[in-house]
Amino acid sequence: MNWGAIPALLLLACAGCASAPAPLPLALTYRIDAQPGALEVEVEVSGPCPAEWRLGQPIAGELSATTPEGEVRRRLDRRRRVHFPPGARRVRYRYALAERTRTYQSLQAGAGGARSYMLSGSSYLLRPTGLAADTQVRLELRGLEPLLPWALREREGGGHEVELAARDLLAPGHHGFGLRRHSLETPGGSLEVGFVEGDLDVSDEVVLSWLRQAQREVVHCRPSGRAPHPRIQVILIPASGSWEPAPFGRVLWSYPQSVALYVGEHASAPELLDDWTAIHELCHTLHPRVVPRRAWLTEGLATYYQCVARIRSGRESAARMWGAMAWGYEAGSGEANGLNLRDLDRRLRELHCYRAVYWGGAFLMLELDLELRRRSEGRVTLDHVVARVLPKGRITSKDFAAAVDALAESPLWAEVGRPHLEEALMSRAPELLARLGVEGVGRRATLAAGAADEALRRAIEGDQAVSPQAEPGAPR
Ligand SMILES: [Zn+2]
Repeated sequence: MNWGAIPALLLLACAGCASAPAPLPLALTYRIDAQPGALEVEVEVSGPCPAEWRLGQPIAGELSATTPEGEVRRRLDRRRRVHFPPGARRVRYRYALAERTRTYQSLQAGAGGARSYMLSGSSYLLRPTGLAADTQVRLELRGLEPLLPWALREREGGGHEVELAARDLLAPGHHGFGLRRHSLETPGGSLEVGFVEGDLDVSDEVVLSWLRQAQREVVHCRPSGRAPHPRIQVILIPASGSWEPAPFGRVLWSYPQSVALYVGEHASAPELLDDWTAIHELCHTLHPRVVPRRAWLTEGLATYYQCVARIRSGRESAARMWGAMAWGYEAGSGEANGLNLRDLDRRLRELHCYRAVYWGGAFLMLELDLELRRRSEGRVTLDHVVARVLPKGRITSKDFAAAVDALAESPLWAEVGRPHLEEALMSRAPELLARLGVEGVGRRATLAAGAADEALRRAIEGDQAVSPQAEPGAPR
């Protein structure tokens, strides 16, 4: 025996007695079988098992769990919660889409047909209440081909898999199954596109041109000249009987974001190429999630950039897009109800004052962009602020204000940002438009030569993507 080794062994043994080993984190493995018209789900639990679970949508039928007491069956309560005895190791349930989509199509609960459908991941992924940040999550998928916000690996023997973090289960984005797939490459990233089955008057290629154009325009708003994310998922759902090009779109705050768009069955190619919904939703991929939610910030950015990006790409004339800003001022002012932007944002869902908040936020962003450029003599722009906060994934509005001040090297937020929130809604807009030389509203708008801020206006319009080597967020 090597006696010299004993002290070290004793030391190790004592270290083990001094404190119990930390319990392993909770691990959840979801086995998802995407069948025609239904998702069969089994959740395998490893580690300390939570008692309460929740689901985003009610399910028809029961959930069953394997517990130390044997097999138990439960229904969701009214709050879509369910409790299992301690020690449950396996939970099984069926999320039936066919029953839902027959009566009502919804981006949240389910849209599409039996063999090709989409829904929000939060609707069908049962998750423990109070999920710890270190929870390990794994999805194993088989059946109909999946399109999720994350890149999936192929599994040996068939199917797909992906390892996720707890935050992905809390914000799982849109999930599609059995979709018709395409991949669109742009500098620095791709759009992974899936069509839910359904009739469209135009070809897939026309719809893809519409998305390709919008994604190129997003790149025009990036100092690096590269896509904001390596991979963004876009799910398209034909809107039966609709003549509108894109009746509704939505972005969900998964990491990275995922986009879903309805496409009108009877939309024509020119109408799609003239539409603003795709560019609006894709402009949301320029910025990180904002928590707590501040629509004046996220929607203000997307609304401002949906105008600016289309001038930079050459899709629209500058006069038409500044005319759209002038229209936004008129439309938003009509919803002000005597409230300022901060209060309108707080009461957005109650008052439905979407134009006031979206365009009020857009004018805040316009003035920030103008003042950043003016004070830095064109070296720093709003594009740099947005690119600086994007990698954080999740920010507060204070983080955004701090990034503005850091890049401006002065308290610009207090001078320009805060007054837009606290003064009468868009009270600064008429003067901003006049200084840019914008006269008239909408398609009738013209741009006057010799306006005080004409040079700054032209700089905003003319910003093109710079060399791919530029650091994101670095002033150029
Ligand atoms: Zn939006």
